[in-house]
Formats: sequence, structure tokens, C-alpha cells
Amino acid sequence: MVEQVLLRAIGVRKSFGALEVLKGIDLEVRQGQVVSLIGASGSGKTTFLRCVNMLEEHDAGDILLDGDPIGYRVEGGKRRRMSETAVSAQRARIGMVFQQFNLFPHLTAEENVMLGLTKVLGKTKAEARDIAGHWLGKVGLEARRGHYPYQLSGGQQQRVAMARAVAMEPRLLLFDEVTSALDPELVAEVLQVMKALAESGMTMLVVSHEMLFVRDVSHHVVFMDQGKVAQAGSPAEVFGNPESERLRSFLGRFH
Ligand code: ADP
Repeated sequence: MVEQVLLRAIGVRKSFGALEVLKGIDLEVRQGQVVSLIGASGSGKTTFLRCVNMLEEHDAGDILLDGDPIGYRVEGGKRRRMSETAVSAQRARIGMVFQQFNLFPHLTAEENVMLGLTKVLGKTKAEARDIAGHWLGKVGLEARRGHYPYQLSGGQQQRVAMARAVAMEPRLLLFDEVTSALDPELVAEVLQVMKALAESGMTMLVVSHEMLFVRDVSHHVVFMDQGKVAQAGSPAEVFGNPESERLRSFLGRFH
């Protein structure tokens, strides 16, 4: 069975001033798939994720989530930026986990997870607490629910951030180098949670430099080079048959 396309990017372009960072990105993420973006620093991976999550506005091309354009609406043949309300509604369908965990320091692990559930999804506190407990359990932190971020390791904080994102039941989860700020010994516990999420059928778009993880967990790998998709395919194709010297040299850094 071929799963339906959840996210489709067509010819996405983005410049910062004179610097064109995305030069026409085409890619798709099917329901239940893990798609990983790899490539050298500066190739545009984070900018693409930020466009998907409407933290940046793309200049041209389309990003469609479940067929709906992200970030703008078309009115009388013209593109217009979505209202803030519409942006918030779209954003509720997309979760994002960042390199810096972005937990609220004055809230406990449980309260961090509960916040979006009550404020955005309108759950009661009791419902939100139950859901938070469930997801904190899934990431192995049930016993830490009353802890504040400063009482948790970086790996534990990142797992809270993941519980917070997934508790919102997003259609799509974005991960932006979520292990890059961690001490090496804490990376594995975070990757393990990501792998479990992938195996549970979550649709994920992942930027990562953890090549073993990318190779192991992804359904599809996209190599970005200087703002373009240079090669895309299954992990076996991309890792086993790099078509360009630039991809060979990029992969060579991880040996
Ligand atoms: P990657 O995630 O692949 O490392 P990025 O998307 O972070 O790449 O960055 C791509 C390029 O865009 C870099 O040259 C970066 O300096 C530039 N860039 C990213 N964000 C901004 C911004 N807000 N203003 C100006 N330049 C930016």
C-alpha cells in the first residue's frame, strides 16, 4: 500500500536579502514515514523546516500539508499571508522539537507538557495532566513529572520537549538537530525515543547529523546541497550509491 502524501513541497524558494538559501525544493513526506534531511551546514535544512512550520515565510513555491497551502492563501489569483489565527491553526497540526529544548524554566516537566493542551487544544487541567503523564511515561520520565528543567539532564529535557510535541497529536513532527546540543553520552536516549516514535507510525521530518540513526530509521533520505535537493532516495540508495562527489565527501566525514 502506498501511503498518502502528508507534506508536499513544490519549488520552494527562500532568500535572506541577496542570499538565496532555498533554490526550489521539491520533496514529499508520506503518512507514517520518516524523511531525513542531511547536508553540510548552511545548505538550507533548518530554513526549510522553519518554512514548513511558518517560522519563516517562503518567497515562492508551495508547501502543502494535507493538501492545504501553508503560510498563505490565494485570493483573486494573488498570494496573501494567512491571518495569525489561520497560522496558529495550521501550526497546531505541526510539532517541532529544537536543538535548544525551549522548555519553560518556571514550569515542571508535567506543566510544560500540559500548557499547549490546555491553552491551544482547550483540554481541562485533569485531561491535560492525564495526557502529560501518558507521554512522560512513554519517554521514560514518569518519575520526573514534578521536576523543573534545571533539575533534569539535557537528554531528559529533550525527552520532555518531545513528549510536549507529541502530546499535541500533530499530523507531522519536525526535528531540528535535536541531539546537537547534548553531551555525547546523552544522545542515545534521545535517539531511542525518536526511533520509538517512528515505529509507532508518527510522520517525521528530521534534520540530523547522526548518520547511523538516519540510515537505520529513515524511509527516505534527502541530501541538500547549496539550497537544492542534490540526491534523494532510500537510505540504501543515498548511502550505498552517492551520485556526486559532494555527497561522497559529506558522508566521508562520518567515517
Ligand atoms: P543548515 O540548516 O543546512 O545548516 P540553514 O538553513 O541554517 O542551513 O542556513 C542556510 C543559510 O541561510 C546560511 O548561510 C545561513 O547563514 C543563512 N540564514 C539562515 N537564517 C538566516 C536569517 N534569518 N537571516 C539571514 N541569513 C540566514
